[in-house]
Amino acid sequence: GATIGMVGGGQLGRMFALEARRMGYRLIVLDPGEDTPAAQFCDGHIRAPFEDLNACLELARRSDLVTLEWENADVATLREMERIVPVRPGPAVLEVAQHRVREKDAARSLGVLTAEYRAVSTRAELDEALREVGAPAILKTARMGYDGKGQATLRDASDADAAWAALSAQGDEFILEARVPFRMEVSVICARSASGETACFPVAENEHRNGILHLTRCPARVPPAVAEQAIAVARTLAEGLGVIGLLAVEMFVDADGRILMNEIAPRPHNSGHHTLEACGVSQFEQQLRAVCGLPLGSPALLRPAAMVNLMGEDAGTGLGRPGAADALAVPETALHLYGKASARPGRKMGHLTSLGDDADAAAERALRAWTAMSDPR
Ligand code: ATP
Ligand code: MG
Ligand code: MG
Repeated sequence: GATIGMVGGGQLGRMFALEARRMGYRLIVLDPGEDTPAAQFCDGHIRAPFEDLNACLELARRSDLVTLEWENADVATLREMERIVPVRPGPAVLEVAQHRVREKDAARSLGVLTAEYRAVSTRAELDEALREVGAPAILKTARMGYDGKGQATLRDASDADAAWAALSAQGDEFILEARVPFRMEVSVICARSASGETACFPVAENEHRNGILHLTRCPARVPPAVAEQAIAVARTLAEGLGVIGLLAVEMFVDADGRILMNEIAPRPHNSGHHTLEACGVSQFEQQLRAVCGLPLGSPALLRPAAMVNLMGEDAGTGLGRPGAADALAVPETALHLYGKASARPGRKMGHLTSLGDDADAAAERALRAWTAMSDPR
């Protein structure tokens, strides 16, 4: 079978590796960690920083195809790798997805709505941007943020000093975005293969806690026209950017039912984990199919589902805890643990997916299982 090289060995890579192995592929992962979640399911582990050009070229030479679960790989390095082996999604997509200003510029140029935003690189530009965008607003580092890190909210102009003090050391490019009074957050994962075939998973509804995804429900509680709009936005972006692989698109639904793009991720997404149990194909198998030129699978939702993340602060993420048995006693509930050694607060340790007759029933089950797992008794 073919050998797939994977940049990044976190939980997304682990779940991808499990699916790829099931289908007979060999895997080599590049990741600086010693015992990363993916490594134990891979045939090879190149343990090196993502900035190590020689290590990246070695990955390319040892693979028939390279894909990514980490979107911040160096674009120039990916271009070098592409001279040896196909890299999917390619450097051009990564270049857009790595930068919050570029991704919003790309969305706008494809006719997709976003919050008002301005690029900011100096303290003076922040003042000007805040006048133009209006308050409240959110200042974000243009690169590298995740789980709400690298963000500061400005209620009004008097918060500008504090926001600048908090963020200015974390980068030299920023974006100021108007804070959207959204009714709901949703996401759509669109797969696109080299032939141009696309398939979108049903719209997921996302609830965050402290900037980190907490609960995903599928289907989302939106009217059919809004769901269609969200799927159209995801497909427009995947096609417009020429993605080969997956594109996850996070969006806001505003009070008028309009869809505003928040950000994109050119890889599997936390809000698609329920696809493992609930859909005709999982997002990980779909990534594999898309990057390998296989026919795409059916993304249809076979049963309503909900997913809750198990964070480091949810003390009960281990199977040894008494609550784990209670969690697994909840009907139609699956436990996923990522094999991370240390449970730091704010770290994603695993997740629970529950199915049910409707998304409310699934969410009630997933939250019941999560409560049992996190109960510190
Ligand atoms: P992720 O972990 O999803 O990659 P991130 O750190 O890249 O997150 P965002 O998705 O931009 O950051 O923001 C995190 C959350 O903060 C959003 O899901 C949303 O709840 C809120 N948020 C971000 N930008 C805005 C905005 N312009 N208006 C309102 N809420 C926002
Ligand atoms: Mg992000
Ligand atoms: Mg996000």
